Amino acid sequence: MDLNWSEDESTFRAALRDSMARHMRPGWTLDDRDMPTQADIDAVKAFCAALGEEGFLTPHWPIAYGGRDASPWEQLVISEETWAAGEPRGGQYMNTNWIGPALMAFGTAEQQAQHLPPITRGEVNWCQGFSEPDAGSDLAALRCRAARDGDSYIVNGQKVWTSYAHAAEWCFLLVRTDPDVGKREGITILMVDMRSPGVEVREIPNPFAHHLIHEMHFTDVVVPVTNRIGEENRGWDIVRSILANERVGIARHVHALAVLDATVADADDLGIDSDDHGLEETIGTAYAWCEAARSLNYVAVAERIRDPYGARPLASVSRSITGPMEREVEWACQQILGDQALAAGSEADRQVVTGTSSMIAAGAYEVQLDLIARLTLDLPRSR
Ligand SMILES: Cc1cc2nc3c(=O)[nH]c(=O)nc-3n(C[C@H](O)[C@H](O)[C@H](O)COP(=O)(O)OP(=O)(O)OC[C@H]3O[C@@H](n4cnc5c(N)ncnc54)[C@H](O)[C@@H]3O)c2cc1C
Repeated sequence: MDLNWSEDESTFRAALRDSMARHMRPGWTLDDRDMPTQADIDAVKAFCAALGEEGFLTPHWPIAYGGRDASPWEQLVISEETWAAGEPRGGQYMNTNWIGPALMAFGTAEQQAQHLPPITRGEVNWCQGFSEPDAGSDLAALRCRAARDGDSYIVNGQKVWTSYAHAAEWCFLLVRTDPDVGKREGITILMVDMRSPGVEVREIPNPFAHHLIHEMHFTDVVVPVTNRIGEENRGWDIVRSILANERVGIARHVHALAVLDATVADADDLGIDSDDHGLEETIGTAYAWCEAARSLNYVAVAERIRDPYGARPLASVSRSITGPMEREVEWACQQILGDQALAAGSEADRQVVTGTSSMIAAGAYEVQLDLIARLTLDLPRSR
């Protein structure tokens, strides 16, 4: 077995790096990924459009949908390189990783024709309207209501923690269309134009990110039935496969490694001896966590290649190590730099934010453990 990158994949990585170097806004950081200003939103669009033009946005998509049927490993290379650079795609990684693929698998020909080309061209921002005030880990408890009215649905309700809602033209929204059946049976997926009357986006001020997360309020929002993905009340099955895709291949370990490298370099500049016996062990352990996260990430990608739409336990295993890996790097930064680790804007300071949110976003750590228990250990559902 050869675990090295193939020659084609290495060539692809070099070409992608070259393209990114030519098109990235100078000085881009992971903070800019949250797109706090209109200039950041514009920079994301310009960057993604340039990448799309040169074939680096969706190469792993089928040729029929604007890709070139490239190996899914190229998708991972894209994630590694963009994460190393502070994810200059902003929220568009969602488009290419799971919103586009969900449309290919479950959308109509008309929906595919409308939405896939703008994604491959990097022209559109989407957001993910799943979580609600009483439906996070227990997502199937969602209550945002869509009532059928002729050729439309009328949507009323609230979503919360929606990343990138301020920059999104479209929302991939989960709604309840039948409140009288089992909670997993009455859920439907709608694509909602964020410019529709009755959609209100309110930022949630928070210590983690600037302008990233929001509440979305829907008041009598009219959504054409033609914007429904899949059958009415059958959205949950689609959601399960989407959630597994959402969790796979996000190369957060690459960024954590860069933070560690930067912190060790900062320590040298500050005259801190990182070869000190205690620190050596702390630093070594943190690097080992990153490498373990990398390996599990690759294992999860291989599982996805084998079974793209099945229940994929290794996605949860990979995801479950990401949060602790981020925390381990955060801990190491604090041990290495002491108080200096909290210097505003430093890589180490930023890692506190990344580490904290990584334990919650895309499914809380404890819930991943619960999924592993059920899917790999065959234990009963906790609720
Ligand atoms: C930075 C960030 C960005 C996000 N972006 C989006 C987005 O774009 N779109 C979106 O829809 N959502 C988004 N979310 C929301 C995220 O998906 C939820 O926060 C997450 O699913 C947890 O739900 P909750 O916040 O309601 O917490 P809860 O579900 O209330 O959980 C609270 C605590 O209880 C624990 N817990 C819950 N159930 C169990 C169980 N069965 N076993 C053991 N422990 C349990 C959890 O682990 C957690 O520690 C984002 C969150 C963050 C932090």
